[in-house]
Parts: sequence; structure tokens; C-alpha cells
Amino acid sequence: MQCMCGDIASTKTVVRKACAAELDFYECRTCARVSDGVLYVEEIEVLADAGMVAHARLAFNELTSPKAQQLLELAKRKLEAQGRINEEMRLEIAQNAFDF
Ligand SMILES: [Zn+2]
Repeated sequence: MQCMCGDIASTKTVVRKACAAELDFYECRTCARVSDGVLYVEEIEVLADAGMVAHARLAFNELTSPKAQQLLELAKRKLEAQGRINEEMRLEIAQNAFDF
């Protein structure tokens, strides 16, 4: 990924084993700018940086085991909800297809 300074930012990973957490982000070797952090707990994405707001990095820095589990629980519920919506959309599209 290209950094704002024009150099190439490469991916980095930091791990916090006690929380089963991993943070992936881009870091520029020239200006040290860090961006696009994504936080994983038990290999499920739980938080991502959004633009200039470093949600994932801040959460990782202050992560505790209970907090990690809480984020994981929320992420799983979100995935389940998305799964239900996808299934409803699929059914609706299938039903509409028969109306043509
Ligand atoms: Zn840079």
C-alpha cells in the first residue's frame, strides 16, 4: 500500500497471546505513519480502523481478556445478523425471479 508520503507502507502484525488477539496494520518505513489497523480475536475480525479513527489500534492497546471476549461476542452476533440478512435477501431475490 502506498503511504501519503509516497513511499510504500508494509503490513505488520502484533500479537497479544493472553487475549488471543492479533492486530494487522500498515506501517511506512520512511515516515512511520501507521494506518488501516484490523483487530482479530480468535481469528475473527472484531474491529477495523476507519479513516483517521484508529478504533482497532486503540482497542488493541487497551485490550484485556474480558474486553477481547466481549468484542468477539459482538463480532459473532454481527456475522450472524449479516448471515440472516443475506439469507432473507437470497429468498426475496429467488421469489422475485419467479414473478418475471
Ligand atoms: Zn510514509
